[in-house]
Amino acid sequence: MQGGNVSETVGGVPGQARVVIIGGGVVGVSALYHLAKAGWSDCVLLEKNELTAGSTWHAAGNVPTFSSSWSIMNMQRYSAELYRGLAEAVDYPMNYHVTGSLRLGHTAERLQEFKRVVGMGRYQGMDLDILTPDDIRSRYPFAETHELTGALYDPYDGDIDPAQLTQALAKGARDLGATIARFCPATGVSRDGDDWVVATPKGEIRCEIVVNAAGYYAREVGKWFGRDVPMMVMSHQYLLFDTIPELAAWSAEAGHKLPLLRDVDSSYYLRQEKDGMNLGPYERNCRAHWVAPDDPMPQDFSFQLFPDDLDRLEWYVNDAMERVPVLGTAGLSKIINGPIPYTPDGNPLIGPMPGVPNAFEACVFTFGICQGGGAGKVLAEWVTEGETEWDMWSCDPRRFTAFCDRDYCVAKGKEVYGHEYAIHFPHHAWPAGRGKKLSPLHDRLAAAGAQFGAYNGWERANWFARPGDDTSEEATQTFRREGAWFDAVKEECLAVRDAAGLLDLPGFSRFTLEGAGAAEWLSRQITGAVPAPGRIGLAYFADKGGRVVTEMSVVRHSETLMTLITAAAAQGHDYELLQGRLPAGLNLTDETEDYTTLILCGLKSRDLLAGICDGDLSRPWLTHQTSHIAGKFVNLIRVCFAGELGWEVHAAVDDMPDIHAAISEAGAPLGLKPFGMFALDSLRIEKGYRAWKGDLSTDYTMLQAGLERFIRWDKPDFVGKVALLAERGKGPTKRFVTLVVEAGDYDAPYMSTLWQGDSIVGETTSGAWGHRVDKSVALGVLRSDLAQAGTRLEVEIFGERRPAVVQPEGPLWDPRNERLKS
Ligand SMILES: Cc1cc2nc3c(=O)[nH]c(=O)nc-3n(C[C@H](O)[C@H](O)[C@H](O)COP(=O)(O)OP(=O)(O)OC[C@H]3O[C@@H](n4cnc5c(N)ncnc54)[C@H](O)[C@@H]3O)c2cc1C
Repeated sequence: MQGGNVSETVGGVPGQARVVIIGGGVVGVSALYHLAKAGWSDCVLLEKNELTAGSTWHAAGNVPTFSSSWSIMNMQRYSAELYRGLAEAVDYPMNYHVTGSLRLGHTAERLQEFKRVVGMGRYQGMDLDILTPDDIRSRYPFAETHELTGALYDPYDGDIDPAQLTQALAKGARDLGATIARFCPATGVSRDGDDWVVATPKGEIRCEIVVNAAGYYAREVGKWFGRDVPMMVMSHQYLLFDTIPELAAWSAEAGHKLPLLRDVDSSYYLRQEKDGMNLGPYERNCRAHWVAPDDPMPQDFSFQLFPDDLDRLEWYVNDAMERVPVLGTAGLSKIINGPIPYTPDGNPLIGPMPGVPNAFEACVFTFGICQGGGAGKVLAEWVTEGETEWDMWSCDPRRFTAFCDRDYCVAKGKEVYGHEYAIHFPHHAWPAGRGKKLSPLHDRLAAAGAQFGAYNGWERANWFARPGDDTSEEATQTFRREGAWFDAVKEECLAVRDAAGLLDLPGFSRFTLEGAGAAEWLSRQITGAVPAPGRIGLAYFADKGGRVVTEMSVVRHSETLMTLITAAAAQGHDYELLQGRLPAGLNLTDETEDYTTLILCGLKSRDLLAGICDGDLSRPWLTHQTSHIAGKFVNLIRVCFAGELGWEVHAAVDDMPDIHAAISEAGAPLGLKPFGMFALDSLRIEKGYRAWKGDLSTDYTMLQAGLERFIRWDKPDFVGKVALLAERGKGPTKRFVTLVVEAGDYDAPYMSTLWQGDSIVGETTSGAWGHRVDKSVALGVLRSDLAQAGTRLEVEIFGERRPAVVQPEGPLWDPRNERLKS
């Protein structure tokens, strides 16, 4: 950290503020505006140049609402709503054209993606529509419709002047009392007691909270906090074309602009710009900047651009001219080639800065113009409330952990950019940035046919291919329940049911919590009971509103020692949550890299283990014990996420190959099969076991999520108790249910709407084929009055309403848990 002495007020910057925001692009200014609107006007924004000097000034200004992510759609929908009323609200006129847009589809799968988004949009109050190829011409007379299967029409899409938008937000913030210091860079930060001291050439500002909103400079600013911001910078271009007389004439007669056209399968957008056009491709042969030693990031790049690089766009220009031939008649007037930052998954960073107290991130935006409004709202909620209205895990900085090094960020950033409009299929694994963290059994699993997926960087088997199975990437480009993986997963699930299955689970996040009073402290954090020594229990952390923040397994070793185990993806999030609240005297250690886990389960798993381990295998469900396999020390935990008799076998990483070999050898005559994550997903859904950030999220309270049995109302206090008591008094408005769906060829994806007659009455949180019950199963949240066994509903899956029936409370498979507890 850098910094110096604190001064009161020097040269125009206040000596003190509640919050300092570093960066005056659209996102930083929106954050300031939303903080001021929340009553936090004692905030200062520092901009090293003029407002908008980073990516904002040269952005094309498109404002789509489309997203196949629920939370990103929320953010973009909110932005568009905000922008529609902003000019009037802050009295700052600006150019915002709500033109609508057409998103063209070339394949049946693309139309399915569109139909899913139409369903999600409807649930968020937006009326999106599907167009046939013939309809396209009536909305966009200049388009050719070759190769098209249809289009999505978004009436809310449009374009805004990014500089005017930023200035309007700035005016709104200033009018509410917030301060903007232009031409005033932050040059460092230091910590003084509980305060931050932000250094600037005009003096220092002492504040409670700092926000890094430095756009593509976020990595440089992050270094002051000891934080390696996971990001890279791409160059992105758009081309401006001269006036097209036919377009000018059409527009004059129609009295409005053409809708924006996105040919997502060809990967570009085309927008009317005055009477000419703006073409913006996301090209496959894309280019990163400032990622190599011979191309260092300049100290200052304010209001600058990269040199034109037209060659790599040639294919896209030609394709656009075939799609909209009048484009071919226009001269090219200007090329804009600017820096655009990317995180490894293309979503921005909004939320607490990992590892740093009272610091937040609102940076690395790839679509900052259309997301800026919503991002300001989300950031302000994080700062003022410590929690957000919508579950924002998709943008949470804690989703990236230490493995996301520079190479990884560059590889993933390029992959995301080159596939900016790609469809995300449920059984596809993106190939870039792979192999970062390998299980000690990796080669053995690969030899057995494992098809891997990355989970917080850990390579885990998704499924095991049999000889002759199609393992190509192309085979995964479908939403359909089809492909070699489906039958292979069935075999894996049935082996777990009838014999035994073995799953390698490297990277199960684990934290050791130790110290006098650890159990008492933990009890105040979770809604339920801390298990007794020798036992394991599920623990839920709620927020003030009683909403589900996270779930951990608590393995209690002694009065003062326990291991907390959580999802691979939750490693950063859960460690921060615990560490941030930890009192003096308790120690928390992340041991994820030191230990690893096998799940051994199925009817014959006890017989198998009996032959090779010295433990007491009669100990009941939810107990744990130390034992030995192949002479190696193991912790055997009697739980099973697959919902069968089974154990988790935890051991040191170096010992696992021997343990695995012993289990495999003993299991061979019993029919033991390796199984993967796809099978685990199918098995868990039949048991109604919730998955984190699908079924379990801050979009639902503990009561809505059906987790009342994990609440100990008689505890004196825990986070969320007041809100949950109030909710219990009134009765929750929604309840968690399991549904059996006559799903046809597709299982219900996340956020498929539930219908009864003409009313939307809930949504799915996950769906999969259950091989043991031989049915399509969905978990979801339903209006309380309908949440009774036998209620008949419809689930909208890719635009089709499929019949579904609410199941009795409890698991679909083995409802009395007899197999699990046997
Ligand atoms: C060619 C192109 C077209 C685009 N088109 C669109 C589009 O149509 N729609 C869309 O949604 N997005 C678009 N984008 C992306 C969009 O421009 C960005 O996502 C958005 O501008 C990011 O805003 P920001 O506020 O996060 O960052 P920036 O605008 O980069 O702002 C960061 C600010 O921080 C300041 N700063 C940095 N370091 C310091 C410091 N130490 N002290 C003080 N200030 C500092 C910088 O000067 C800068 O002004 C486009 C990008 C490009 C390159």
